[in-house]
Amino acid sequence: MTQVFKFGGASVRDAEAIRHLGHLLARFPERPLVVVVSAMGKTTNALEALLAAARSNAPADYRDRLEALRRDHLATVEALFGERAEPVARRVEALINELDRRHRAHAERERPFHYDQTVCFGELLSTTIVAAWLEDTGLASEWCDARELIVTDGDHQAASVDWAATAERVRSLDLADGRLRVTQGFIGATPEGNSTTLGREGSDYSAAILAHCLGAEAVTIWKDVPGLFNADPRRVDNAVQLETISYHEAIALAWHGATVIHPKTLAPLQQRAIPLTVRSFQDLEAPGSTIGEDARHDGEVPALMLCEEQTLLEIRPRDFAFMDEACQHDILGRLVAAGLHAGLIDAGATRLSLCLDSHPARLEPLVASLADDYAVTRRDGLTLVNVRHGDDALLRALGEGRDCLAERRNTDTAQRLFPASQCPATWHLPD
Ligand code: ASP
Ligand code: MG
Repeated sequence: MTQVFKFGGASVRDAEAIRHLGHLLARFPERPLVVVVSAMGKTTNALEALLAAARSNAPADYRDRLEALRRDHLATVEALFGERAEPVARRVEALINELDRRHRAHAERERPFHYDQTVCFGELLSTTIVAAWLEDTGLASEWCDARELIVTDGDHQAASVDWAATAERVRSLDLADGRLRVTQGFIGATPEGNSTTLGREGSDYSAAILAHCLGAEAVTIWKDVPGLFNADPRRVDNAVQLETISYHEAIALAWHGATVIHPKTLAPLQQRAIPLTVRSFQDLEAPGSTIGEDARHDGEVPALMLCEEQTLLEIRPRDFAFMDEACQHDILGRLVAAGLHAGLIDAGATRLSLCLDSHPARLEPLVASLADDYAVTRRDGLTLVNVRHGDDALLRALGEGRDCLAERRNTDTAQRLFPASQCPATWHLPD
């Protein structure tokens, strides 16, 4: 049964990382295996800066950035292949020249289109080097162009997948020859063949799309962390790793602020009951965390998600009317129009409380618009603490010594809003 592996930018950052990737893949001889790879390190950011230089009419800056990309990728090729670098270096040079040519050809087009024709080269470069390296180490591999597999609409920079067309293209892949396939994350193409991208950090999603269309047995996302945790280990000193959680639980954790796996990535997997494992590419013995159908371990330990830099809005009708469905509909409609997400929504008889990210550019116009029609009070500098599967004792302990400015609780989730000034730099989950 087919496996799909995904490697992010950190796992192909430099020659040493790519060598390590080769060792890792050598331990997985089963085929078919499709390997989805991001751009090397921070290449996507570098390509965005290159595009910005070009579009702001800074040709010298553009040239410097293009040459830096060429130099960095060629240095990796040199470090990997040494005397055998020539043919791979030629392919890298050709891609950089093609990037330069495409970018010029589309310089007059609108930015999103231009972006996709330029930024897709990060993944084209990384996979060219990785596929050649794997082949060099004796792992029979073939480079595949994801733009011939993932068919999208023309919504550049945030393209939507045409599932029927993609499934047909993917089905025509013959994976039975025992060679592993190396392809790009993040990119696809329109039916006319224009490159598209699926949104930043879109490579996980690419792996899920391919797995869905291949009817894969499993997806593994190799990361620089050992797996998924019940809290951010950088912020909570007793965070523990989650071994198995359900798709449903993973989506709930993401909704409440965990930077787990994006729900967009989970949906195509959940539809086909394909499990997704997050594993450490540094510690190959560690089992990682699996998201799948099995919900038996959901809630075995409480989970804590912190949302910082929050603003609380308390909104009341001016004429001492009820905060009825019509008012709520109006207010939430304005929220949607402003592109804001409320981490906590709580309605009372004459009040609607919303806890929002303190994103000034979006928040200020919303507050101004609400203040035209409602009495609005506002408080900034807050931290929203979301707890899944916490009991009364845990919630009491978390609130101790802190003013709770808003709260909400249902069967499995509790939310508490505190002044950030009363919150510690490092949290501890009470036992
Ligand atoms: N290279 C792209 C990015 O940095 C896609 C990804 O890595 O997931 O956003
Ligand atoms: Mg990445």
